[in-house]
Amino acid sequence: MNGPGHVGGSRMLLRKLREIMEAGGSAQERLDRLVAMVAATMVADVCSIYLTRGEQHELFATQGLKPEAVHRTRLNTGEGLVGLVAETAQPLNLADAPHHARFSYRPETGEDPYQSFLGVPIVRSERTFGVLVVQNSVQRMYGEDEVEALQTIAMVLAEMVAANAFGDLSGLADVEARPSRPEFMQGKAFSDGVAIGVAVLHEPHAPLGRVIADDPVKEEARLDAALTQVRGVISEMLEGDPGRLSGVSREVLETFLMLANDPSWDAKLRNGVRAGLSADAAVERVRGEHRAKFNATRDPYLRERMHDLEDLDNRLLRALAGVDGAAQQSLPENAILIARELGPAELLDYGGRLAGIALEEGSSAAHAAIVARALGVPMVGSLSGLLSRVEDGDAVVLDGERGEVRLRPEDQVVSTYRQRIELRSARAAEFARDKDEPAITQDGAAVALLLNAGLALDVHHLDDTGAEGIGLFRTEFQFMVSETLPRLESQILLYRDVLDTAGDRAVTFRTLDLGGDKVLPYVKAEREENPALGWRAVRIGLDRPSLLRYQLRALINAAAGRRLRVMFPLVAIVSEFEAARALVDRELEWAARFGRGAPAEIEIGVMVEAPALAWSIAGLKGKADFLSVGTNDLMQYFFAADRGNARVADRYDVLSAPALRFLSSIRQSADEAGLQISICGEAAGRPLEAMAFVALGFRRLSMPASGVGPVRRLIRSMSVEAAAADLAPRLKTQSASLRAELTEFAQSQGFAL
Ligand code: PEP
Ligand code: MG
Repeated sequence: MNGPGHVGGSRMLLRKLREIMEAGGSAQERLDRLVAMVAATMVADVCSIYLTRGEQHELFATQGLKPEAVHRTRLNTGEGLVGLVAETAQPLNLADAPHHARFSYRPETGEDPYQSFLGVPIVRSERTFGVLVVQNSVQRMYGEDEVEALQTIAMVLAEMVAANAFGDLSGLADVEARPSRPEFMQGKAFSDGVAIGVAVLHEPHAPLGRVIADDPVKEEARLDAALTQVRGVISEMLEGDPGRLSGVSREVLETFLMLANDPSWDAKLRNGVRAGLSADAAVERVRGEHRAKFNATRDPYLRERMHDLEDLDNRLLRALAGVDGAAQQSLPENAILIARELGPAELLDYGGRLAGIALEEGSSAAHAAIVARALGVPMVGSLSGLLSRVEDGDAVVLDGERGEVRLRPEDQVVSTYRQRIELRSARAAEFARDKDEPAITQDGAAVALLLNAGLALDVHHLDDTGAEGIGLFRTEFQFMVSETLPRLESQILLYRDVLDTAGDRAVTFRTLDLGGDKVLPYVKAEREENPALGWRAVRIGLDRPSLLRYQLRALINAAAGRRLRVMFPLVAIVSEFEAARALVDRELEWAARFGRGAPAEIEIGVMVEAPALAWSIAGLKGKADFLSVGTNDLMQYFFAADRGNARVADRYDVLSAPALRFLSSIRQSADEAGLQISICGEAAGRPLEAMAFVALGFRRLSMPASGVGPVRRLIRSMSVEAAAADLAPRLKTQSASLRAELTEFAQSQGFAL
């Protein structure tokens, strides 16, 4: 497998490859020498390079097939064994190729006598743009070491083509080793805003052109140093203040350390550099394998392990590049982060240093999107194929309003977007000018516009937007940005700071809402089959009350002498609310007993997120002080569609007749129970949704800062009576989306959408 024979063979191949590249000559001559060399070294009768031009795989060089087939044999996408290798991006090793169902016979190549076939994809940055093939006339399976050696050659070849090392070959210009043309991608808008910037890949890549090492001994020393650094960081985390870690997180770090010390990982990396790859390229090769295994396996345990390994590979690449982690990575100005998927904590790690974020997957109700909105960073997601279309340093225009991304745009496009940015800032100035205008409809209904916040920073948006108060303060963000569990004192400091900044504007704190996609880096939650339906939010708080009680203690302390509003997330049944409220009473008693001072006024509310609670509102009468509808979660449970799963998150519409009927009945129940009610899901910050909610009778809307201006303008332009009259008959239908009709209605009335 990884024996010395393989290392020696690969090293010889790489050395010869290097000699060929250095010897000069035309690109075609070098490719010809390369296939001859590979065939000779691997004792193959045939070695061929196919590169993808447009929709075809073209034979670019061959040793063993008829020379006149070069540049003439072209296989269509998916055609033949070459097409199969390109399609699956996996090696194909066959002893009896002519009998394979996908074998396609091309007489001009003279390929008849060859029985065995080994093809490996030429891949770079998840983009397959060619296939490297060896063939033999005898029937044989190629050994694992031969497959690996050919993959190494293919990897080096890929880097060389991408780095333009064969620049002068006509035809290579349309081989897309590195995307160079302008490209437009339509995704989904997750966070509003427009940015012009430079792509920064979340997962690092080996630097282009540094694939073959000058000095394998030096390279191994670099690898050693990086390995020592990565292992050191993990051990340090383990050995650091033991009180900071819970038992579970220790276990995770231990697994991580075990993987980092795994001799087979080490051996694979070392084999790479001993074979002549640079340390970075060796890591990238191993990461490619982990990623392929990850994609191929369904077993959740194995997937997680592969994911951990990939994470280690990434840490190692960063260590080789001289950066410790995302947080330390130096970013260009106007960095646009490119990632497959991003957790909220990872995003917070980058902090306010990003101009924009583009995700291959993701969903708008997932917490990373909420964090992006809180940070005011535009974000576009659901960009399928993104990672294979963009390279570090590419110019990017990101439009978080329309959900569009333009890669390597023409100057004309960039200047159009500059104008849009100017227009948007003019509009923002308009909103800012109107921020003190009352949010009252044309027919006199006053609507309270409140802010969703999660960081002390967000509270300043109260002044910029003229919002009346904070309708939802997500306290878990503080826990997600910390390295360790925030102590009582730092919780008190944050809450006090928030209350001080808010002044006489009310702040509604929501207690810790962890679980689901909100995981703490230092506490590993147990794996759950359905995390959104699992042990999260108030369920954790009630089962392990110490964390929740500490938080309540901090809130009570911070609000001493002032008004305190607290609400609990994801309560499903009335008794859960009662139990949570009882904890508040206990903490109030505790504060009184120890003379710690108490809030002058206290209101305790509950979020309506579980449909069961929506049908229990009468039972909260006299027990709760207010309700807040979290449409993000409520709709996830209503439609049984995971808010964090890109495939289904946007499948259903809150502006559907059934969802609006449901919200309407919640509002009525709240009125009957005499409970104040607001909506604090993301939908409240979108003018069309806000219009519908106001028409249903909601008068308190809490939203991201970017929504306040547009919603205020809508409210001031609309008539509740007209909107309610228009909506009433539509509510009785079974329409899955009233979006188009409501838009048309609003436009016909001149409401400002
Ligand atoms: C919601 O679920 O609508 C909500 C406001 O809470 P979060 O998005 O933090 O889950
Ligand atoms: Mg929620």
